[in-house]
Amino acid sequence: MAVVCELCNKNIGRYHDYIACNGQCSGKFHVGCVNISIEVFTSMKKNSEDKCWLCPNCKQGADTSSEKLAAMSIGQDSNISLDAQMKEIERRILSSINDHIVEPLINKINKVSEENNVLIAKVNNFTAIMNSLKNCK
Ligand SMILES: [Zn+2]
Ligand SMILES: [Zn+2]
Repeated sequence: MAVVCELCNKNIGRYHDYIACNGQCSGKFHVGCVNISIEVFTSMKKNSEDKCWLCPNCKQGADTSSEKLAAMSIGQDSNISLDAQMKEIERRILSSINDHIVEPLINKINKVSEENNVLIAKVNNFTAIMNSLKNCK
């Protein structure tokens, strides 16, 4: 199967210089298509920098997710303690779970444990019968 450059959609031939993305897409690219000069590419290969290269798309994704992460680390420069933050998150989660979901679940659990009790009673009964039969001989 031919290897195709993710940018120009053309074949990457055996003698073409290409670089593989180490991000999510793991696509392959002509070095020229991602604006890497042969000189830079050669030095990247020498330093194994091509092993951690990201294509423009994945690099953007990585940047956005690290920005998101930074945005998520709430209260870093405020004096809210981590504990208070956890409590707030817990409160938000609890308030987002509504009774429509919880109640049927609780009912189901109660029913299952009821059935379980019936089963236990049956097993006990059975064991008692077995025991009494043992004494028959
Ligand atoms: Zn290309
Ligand atoms: Zn990529």
